[in-house]
Amino acid sequence: MLLEKEDNTEVEAAVRQESQRLAQLHGYCALDTPPDKLCDQVTQLACSMFDVEIALVALVDEHRQWFKSRVGLEVSETPRADSFCNHAIQTRHGMVVTDALQDARFSRHALVTGAPFIRFYAGAPLVTPQGLSLGTLCIIDSRPRPDFGASQFAQLNQLAAIVMERLEQLRNRGYIDHVTALPNRARLMEVLRVRGHARPGASGADAAVAVDICPREYLFDMVKALGWDYAEGFLMEVSRTLRRVLGTLPLYRVTTTTFVYLDETAPAQRRRRIADIEQRFTPALEFQGIPHLLDIAIGVLPMEEDVSGGDVVRSLLTVIDVSREEGVSPRLFESVHAEKQRYAFWLLAALPMALTTPDELVLHFQPKVRLRDGACVGVEALIRWHHPIHGNIPPDVFIPLAEKTGQIRQVTAWVLRQVVAQVARWLKSGRALPVAFNASARDFDSDELRELLAQQLKLHKVPPALIEIEFTEHAMANHPQQVRQRVQALRELGVKVAIDDFGAGFSNLSYLKNIPADTMKIDRSFIHRLLDDEADQLIVPSILHLAHNLGFSVVAEGLESERTATLLRHLGCDYGQGYAIARPMPLAELEAWLERRG
Ligand code: C2E
Ligand code: CA
Ligand code: CA
Repeated sequence: MLLEKEDNTEVEAAVRQESQRLAQLHGYCALDTPPDKLCDQVTQLACSMFDVEIALVALVDEHRQWFKSRVGLEVSETPRADSFCNHAIQTRHGMVVTDALQDARFSRHALVTGAPFIRFYAGAPLVTPQGLSLGTLCIIDSRPRPDFGASQFAQLNQLAAIVMERLEQLRNRGYIDHVTALPNRARLMEVLRVRGHARPGASGADAAVAVDICPREYLFDMVKALGWDYAEGFLMEVSRTLRRVLGTLPLYRVTTTTFVYLDETAPAQRRRRIADIEQRFTPALEFQGIPHLLDIAIGVLPMEEDVSGGDVVRSLLTVIDVSREEGVSPRLFESVHAEKQRYAFWLLAALPMALTTPDELVLHFQPKVRLRDGACVGVEALIRWHHPIHGNIPPDVFIPLAEKTGQIRQVTAWVLRQVVAQVARWLKSGRALPVAFNASARDFDSDELRELLAQQLKLHKVPPALIEIEFTEHAMANHPQQVRQRVQALRELGVKVAIDDFGAGFSNLSYLKNIPADTMKIDRSFIHRLLDDEADQLIVPSILHLAHNLGFSVVAEGLESERTATLLRHLGCDYGQGYAIARPMPLAELEAWLERRG
């Protein structure tokens, strides 16, 4: 009984040691890397020094041995189970087999009785400073070598020490995150590049999983309050915690707060692992007596497609963003929506490019007319994305996505620049045409919009009153006070402000009396059935009444028929916009339309 227990403990210790060994091996980031000149020189030297056919720098991975350098052998890896090196690394001092046929352990071994007919093997272990063997520098021959003695083996060990020194050097050369000693983003990209997804989800199970341990601001606050040393220690603790769950799965640190691991196990096991990670970080991670309530976000990206390392990392960071934004974690991109989400990923990845490629994004303009006399009082700029391969991508599709990831700020900046420049061109040709553009909730997170607008107005010498900014109630949802101040600041530049899609949102009317706007645009959902829907016939006049009492002029959106326009004019609505008047049009068409109207 006692004996059995001891056996068990020994087995457990061996398993633990092996998983530490593998973790260290992966930490060296040497597997599947390009050849190294110095390692090659060592194997060539070993061949001539000891007069053997084969010399290898063999790294013993979980199921294979991979050769960082090889002389006399064609293949770059072989199964671990068959290998002599697997035996050699079990002993601290390596292994010499002077004649395999005379050695009971190997005399029936397939590599001895068959090709390459190994008779002689000597393997010197590649030992890390922590005393673990990553693999060997080994020499092999098809002749027995009874003459190979202790002094030769000592020389081989010296060469192994040189190789080990080299592996250390390579490790420290840009692939290692200096805080956690984990491989970094560059290394992850390299690994993904080498794998090239050559074995796309053999078990349907290849996935990259990103764990963002806390919002970046949390870590920065920690640095401010407790210093870098503490924060670095904390990150170490995080990486140790993840390691405990992940065992030998390769782990990378890709941004200040984001860790990524590659998981090739079956989906059920993968889910358990994710649950385990979540559990370890809730309720709090304690470090040096301080509990940290971390808001971790997890994103999973299946990799059955041919995507580049850069795409994987970017997509993962997007998943993390979205999962933070929506408070859903883990966010698994393998649900029924995978197609849609992959498309969304693709869109988000393509958007930055579109923003800098001429003519991929263009503005269309939809006229707004005064209902009383039909005069055009301005136009609304609406963005259009013509992708060279994927064709037209509607704003309803990419704008909401860009809003989720914050890319909308770049979109708004792009639109703003175009709009101001266009207004300036029209002015030069004698046309003072007001143009409205759409801003999103995120544009009110900072003063950037106002600063850019002020700068562009000045640059193009455009009177501010010719520019109008439309924003929805949605922008008010989170920080109404702050948004109110920012809207006010915009208005102080002299530009006009409109409340867009009024009635479509949650319509908390109380914000209306405080919002410094000029115009209210009634959402088209109230307008398009106005002729038939009794409820809308009650609601629209009351909105008009309310808006006018608060001092707003009113635009009805989505006017699709003449009759609706007439009814609205009778109800006292000031302006209209919709297909009945004109569709959004490219610049040239709009100019022709304006000419026709005189
Ligand atoms: P929106 O700001 O409410 O823009 C009006 C939308 O209604 C436009 O759709 C326009 O084509 C459509 N529309 C105009 N008249 C009618 C009509 O009579 N009937 C119907 N059924 N629809 C009409 P579009 O251009 O597809 O844009 C959709 C939304 O995408 C916009 O709604 C706006 O929220 C967003 N968007 C478009 N361009 C931009 C932009 O540059 N920046 C931002 N942040 N959002 C934009
Ligand atoms: Ca609008
Ligand atoms: Ca609208």
